[in-house]
Amino acid sequence: MDFVCQQCGTCCRWSGHVLLTASDIAAISTHLGLSENDFIDRYAALASNRSQLTLQDAPDGACIFLDAQQCRIYPVRPSQCRTFPSQWQVEGCPASFQDKQRSRT
Ligand code: SF4
Repeated sequence: MDFVCQQCGTCCRWSGHVLLTASDIAAISTHLGLSENDFIDRYAALASNRSQLTLQDAPDGACIFLDAQQCRIYPVRPSQCRTFPSQWQVEGCPASFQDKQRSRT
């Protein structure tokens, strides 16, 4: 997929979970200089499936790591974020829309 992120932050304001793997937790906590337990206490929550952890939401519903239009943990962002938009998509993402338009021509 020929996808170029426009850094609009739409996928980071999506209302669903940003699920965390064990390797996501290890990488992000190291990046932030926190123990894994401290990272989980500050930034994670139990997902609604009750079997995985998810990133917390900011009060406005965006991801807790979205700062204006920038991801504060971009180099170590969760695998779910890395697989966007090839494995999941969000309505309103301009880059995904452009990609669909290109594939039709
Ligand atoms: S971790 Fe970064 S890329 Fe992933 S949803 Fe949050 S702000 Fe967006």
